[in-house]
Amino acid sequence: MAEKSIGNEMLDKLSYKKQNVYENASPETVKKIFDYADGYVRLLDNAKTEREAVRTAVKLAEDAGFRSYTLGDKISVGDNLYCNNRGKSVVFIHVGDDDIESEGVRIIASHIDSPRLDIKPIPLYEDSNMCFLKTHYYGGIKKYQWTATPLALHGVIVKADGETVDVKIGDEPGDPVFYVNDLLPHLSQKQYGETLGNAIPGETLNVLIGGMPYADDEVSEKVKLNTLSLLFEKYGMCEEDFMSAELTMVPAFNARDIGFDRALIGAYGHDDKVCSYPALTALLENKNTKKTVIVVFADKEETGSDGVTGMQSDILTDIIAEISAALGKNERVVRAHSKCLSADVTAAYDPNFADVYEKRNSSIISCGAAIAKYTGARGKSSTNDASAELLGYVRKLFRDNGVIFQVSEMGKVDAGGGGTVAKYISLHNIDTIDIGVPVISMHAPFEVVSKADIYSTFEALSVFVK
Ligand code: MN
Ligand code: MN
Repeated sequence: MAEKSIGNEMLDKLSYKKQNVYENASPETVKKIFDYADGYVRLLDNAKTEREAVRTAVKLAEDAGFRSYTLGDKISVGDNLYCNNRGKSVVFIHVGDDDIESEGVRIIASHIDSPRLDIKPIPLYEDSNMCFLKTHYYGGIKKYQWTATPLALHGVIVKADGETVDVKIGDEPGDPVFYVNDLLPHLSQKQYGETLGNAIPGETLNVLIGGMPYADDEVSEKVKLNTLSLLFEKYGMCEEDFMSAELTMVPAFNARDIGFDRALIGAYGHDDKVCSYPALTALLENKNTKKTVIVVFADKEETGSDGVTGMQSDILTDIIAEISAALGKNERVVRAHSKCLSADVTAAYDPNFADVYEKRNSSIISCGAAIAKYTGARGKSSTNDASAELLGYVRKLFRDNGVIFQVSEMGKVDAGGGGTVAKYISLHNIDTIDIGVPVISMHAPFEVVSKADIYSTFEALSVFVK
């Protein structure tokens, strides 16, 4: 091989270049990446809502020997536990040998809720021979993306007698699907003149669920009555039961490989299950580690992390307090020495919308897990902004262990912005930094990620808890 010129040697030594995970990957490595992605897709297709994500993840953890824990239960070194928080968020715990006062605990926090159309408490009505459900969208959606696409109904109904009924219809072949009407182009002259954000008003996101009249000339709203009778038949519910229900419309389709080379995956809800799965599997692979590890699957991130199952609730600190007490340690000291990876997605650079990105500082798809020192908007407002020391720590950890990663911002300065749960965790005196999978079309009903980035994120989270 020809010797490198001095200039090229200097270039290798001094300059920084992102690395495509797929480039120079052996066929064995590509197979590992693809096999890992298959496992992720199996979770994802059974986790369209936070409740389903909890159930599916708990099953994986139980299969790996984790057992249910409730606040107040006894905790011992070597325990592998999960704390199911009201069926909507879950915390996985491994108690290691290391002294948690000097080493702290290792936390990985992701979220399992995704943007969608929630059903209102009094949703059912009939108009012009069609029966609809009123919705109130959940999280940051582009409303036009939810029209004219097949939807599935997921959730729970708590009936008058207190019985809870699970609902999941629209995903299986042969199931009916549901639908938000869109306006035909022929009559869209006025709509074309609206801004994108105003073209589909929130109150027009009504879901079509029926069109057959009840066979009785005496009643006025026949299609509504027929739908009610079918709901009664299937779920034993009446109209009032909607008020104590959590029903939501999610895309009816499952994850699919994208591209001739199958390098990418399209799916609903990558944000943020694409980080939750690596977080959980990193823990399961290291379930005997000397470190004490906590993996949080939070709910309600997409609406601000409020509420009893959101990241702003005390569950994380309560669990750290319980572990500390069980091991005879000072909880405040434990938190001060703990570290957290806030595992959430970021925007991948999209050449089709190049003007909102600053390419040098954007995450590029397939270049590995993306670390974000800070998020926020308008001059880093509302961000955790991790320290250079913490970034230096993870950088060295990943480099020492051969993890391919990148460091990025979301978009151009003043182009917009976003946040994660990082700022809520750092409030507890816990060093926290954001890392996650870059996503194309984030928050769309069908988002795109690279299998290479999922695997890189898994490797990054693994070495953090190992
Ligand atoms: Mn997210
Ligand atoms: Mn999001």
